[in-house]
Amino acid sequence: MTFCTYCGKPKPKTVDHIPPACLFPSPRPSNLITVPCCLDCNKGASKDDEYFRMMLVMRRDVTHPAIPKLLDAVHRGLGKPRKRGMLHGLLRNMRSVSVKTPAGLYMGRVEAYDVDLVRLGRVTDRIVKGLFFKEFDMPLPSTHGVQSFAESGLTKIDSDMRLAVGTTVEALMSRSPRVIGEGVFEYWVQATPDDPATTAWLMRFYHIESFLCLTAPNSAKPSATELIGV
Ligand SMILES: [Zn+2]
Repeated sequence: MTFCTYCGKPKPKTVDHIPPACLFPSPRPSNLITVPCCLDCNKGASKDDEYFRMMLVMRRDVTHPAIPKLLDAVHRGLGKPRKRGMLHGLLRNMRSVSVKTPAGLYMGRVEAYDVDLVRLGRVTDRIVKGLFFKEFDMPLPSTHGVQSFAESGLTKIDSDMRLAVGTTVEALMSRSPRVIGEGVFEYWVQATPDDPATTAWLMRFYHIESFLCLTAPNSAKPSATELIGV
């Protein structure tokens, strides 16, 4: 019996790519991860994925060789008549803003127009849940939630938390990453010995933007150092 990676419903009919397939230029790598996914959870996800991609590849400091091909796709998408208004808005209003999602996704300073952080957080949540399924062969229990920090947002958090995050990231990166698509996506993972569903993840996209993500009981306020026992 299989279950949906995201909601736990039995016998899901589709699969979901982790991370989203649109982050990779074609030809897409052969080792893309797929996880079982029900139709409801799959619905609408690809629009969020494209949005997530646009926010990453339009950064000026990103130099990964995959970017030029992906930018073509992003610009083609923006050139469609129904999206032209969005492009004009982007160009006119592109500015540095400090942002943080209600769900706890810290994005720091991003150059953006009307960044939909809830939407970005939905994508990082889904990637973590997908990777959890892949690594541990079960969905993340509903008793646990995901919390994500974007590396570029770390200047916005207090110094104790920043230290904890730094220590966690260092410990995670002392092992080798799993790499998909020549560095388009890399991740590191560690679970705690006493609760296998309490885990720390580092995900890196295009060698440039990293997210530290934690899964922990919904009742707990996760502390990055406690999580990996350092
Ligand atoms: Zn589902």
